[in-house]
Amino acid sequence: MLKKAVGIDIGGTNTNVSLIDETGRILRQFKFRTPKGLSASSVVEKIFLGISESGVFKESSRVGCGVAALIHPSTGYVDFAPNLGWRNFNLKKSLPEGIGIKKIVFENDANCAAVGIYKRMKKKVHSLAVITLGTGIGGGLIIDGKLFSNPDISAFEVGHTTVDPHGIKCACGSRGCLETFCGARYMNKWASKYWAGTKFEGKILTPHEIADYARAGKNWAKKVWLKYGEYLAVGVSNLVNLLALDEVVFTGGIAAGFPFFRESVKKEVAKRTLAPYVKKVRISRASWNSYIGSIGAAFLALNNEDGS
Ligand SMILES: [Zn+2]
Repeated sequence: MLKKAVGIDIGGTNTNVSLIDETGRILRQFKFRTPKGLSASSVVEKIFLGISESGVFKESSRVGCGVAALIHPSTGYVDFAPNLGWRNFNLKKSLPEGIGIKKIVFENDANCAAVGIYKRMKKKVHSLAVITLGTGIGGGLIIDGKLFSNPDISAFEVGHTTVDPHGIKCACGSRGCLETFCGARYMNKWASKYWAGTKFEGKILTPHEIADYARAGKNWAKKVWLKYGEYLAVGVSNLVNLLALDEVVFTGGIAAGFPFFRESVKKEVAKRTLAPYVKKVRISRASWNSYIGSIGAAFLALNNEDGS
């Protein structure tokens, strides 16, 4: 009989759940709003009791759990989860008893998305970096088919690599992080000058709206995306120069703007990256599926069970 696993992806807005078998076939999928306005332990209790009611833990007691957090994979200790408002909190200790979970592994949500995307890729590559472009910027690195992780704490926080040493202050405490240019939370800070003098002057625009205006042919919106690609390229070229990556894949809500920043990100990466690496690296966008993190989390649970 095929092994199965439950993957859970706890995000600031939604919690997604996938039950898969070891071939990657999806057996069940559902999502619900992540509870808000409660203590961290009550939120965890509500999430897991809710999932338990669906009966998926009766299908499999192997569970992988992705969290938008800096998290310790085996202990479930969360150092910091800005979008959930959690800090220094042990998620594993807050799990309700008697719901049928035998083994659970934890990972950062972007790392789970990287595993999900790698498993869904048709061709296998040696090295792949997945960069999630959303409210914040996350990332996951796959080397030789395995997620690069530190057993003590989730790794690859590409959003907090420095793009401008004198840039604006980031929520992490540093300045000029990639996230302060390319995260939705910060985009208006540098981009609003592009719509000064239009009817949107002084307004906050979301990345989706800016993409819509670019699609409608507005030049100011196209210029925002060109600049976005240039900033993103600084972070990407640092990664490619370090790791000689085969593949860089963007995912997350802002990746919807990819058609408008594809050329500028590639052009700028080519300028900033060593020539042999430029020839090798492929830069693309994953087709967006909000369940990809939960699928990756389920794969991590299956691999963990195998001892690999
Ligand atoms: Zn930062």
